[in-house]
Amino acid sequence: MAKGIAMLGWIDYVGLTRCRAVPPDQMAARREHGLGWAVAGQALTPFSEIAINPWGPIAEVRQVPDPSTHVHLPAYDGAAPFDLTLCDSLNSDGSSWDCCTRGFARKALAALESEFGLRFVGAFEHEFTLSGGTITPGAPFTVEALRVAPRFTADLADALSQAGLEPETVEPEYGYLQYEVTTAPAIGLAAADRAILTREVIREVARWHGLRATFSPKPSLDGVGNGAHLHFSFADGESRNVSFDASTPSQASPFVQSFIAGVMDHMPALVAYTAPSPVSYLRLGPHHWSCGFASFGIQNREAAIRICPSPARDPKRQASGFNLEYRPADATASPYMIIGALIQAGLSGVRRQLPLPPSEALSALEADEIASSWMPPTMRRSYVDVKRLEQKLAEEKVPEEVCRQHAAVY
Ligand code: GLU
Ligand code: MG
Repeated sequence: MAKGIAMLGWIDYVGLTRCRAVPPDQMAARREHGLGWAVAGQALTPFSEIAINPWGPIAEVRQVPDPSTHVHLPAYDGAAPFDLTLCDSLNSDGSSWDCCTRGFARKALAALESEFGLRFVGAFEHEFTLSGGTITPGAPFTVEALRVAPRFTADLADALSQAGLEPETVEPEYGYLQYEVTTAPAIGLAAADRAILTREVIREVARWHGLRATFSPKPSLDGVGNGAHLHFSFADGESRNVSFDASTPSQASPFVQSFIAGVMDHMPALVAYTAPSPVSYLRLGPHHWSCGFASFGIQNREAAIRICPSPARDPKRQASGFNLEYRPADATASPYMIIGALIQAGLSGVRRQLPLPPSEALSALEADEIASSWMPPTMRRSYVDVKRLEQKLAEEKVPEEVCRQHAAVY
């Protein structure tokens, strides 16, 4: 039986897991100094074109494996074992290479911990579309859709568990041959590691069955998009979720309110990290439940940040289950860059103690001297006050209720 090959992997600017590989018995020797890698590779597009870059043919980093990320799947029906460990890209003196995407996340996580004593708890949702083979798709969300590829879905659940990735759901999605996998939340860097490993395991299990899993945000223009929504919350030193505060309309704690405000403030630039490719923008837009608006809202699947209250009735579990979902993210981004940039954007709001923005449009109106000068001062102030109150009332309701309420009046 072939022993296979042990892969050392890292994820680059375009969200692809690149690798070099060694025979498994060489792995121990690679623990300390890893493998050399010509960093010009970081300038690769997802295709064969390479951007002009500062590195040239000489610059090199060490790709040093982090054993906590090791995933091994035994040989499967003729396929060699799958063995992958993720790496940090380090300079020869052992410091982090300043273009390492894992290092980018590390830096943001360290700021969160040192300035606020908090840890990031995150879980990505993985949507993907199968192709290849001869499967006839089932209708959205049906048992049929799951059972047309029964060995694939069963092997997938087994492989994810075996790899220690703690799968929570494996389900049919809305699109034809579109599926979704969720895993249990993980802390800090492990949330991004887990996302990368989960994706690679899904790809591998698809290959076992002669299929291909694509995570492209928009596999076809008229088809359903694949998101990589990120659920997150913050834990203190005692592992308590400090994101929840029952006394506020949004149920978000003051820290989280300012965090959301920071994310909103940076949203136009933040998406360059989290939805970073041309195809990302074919997915984003209203009426696709991807993310149509740079806004936030309770349970709102069109908003950039969906506030997700826990379904639990017990107050303790309400607090522990409360989380936020960042939706304008997809698999063309490095999960490290998604987590790193999201934290940086949020902390920028927390450091400035920004209040939750009541409405993008109203803030824009106030910032636009000409547009607000169209109203005399008293009218302007009172108009904005009424609109802000309306916004506050709407934030206290689920969107369905907002629709019902307005339908009854207008
Ligand atoms: N497929 C949608 C997206 O592109 C998400 C649908 C859902 O809410 O699960 O983000
Ligand atoms: Mg989904």
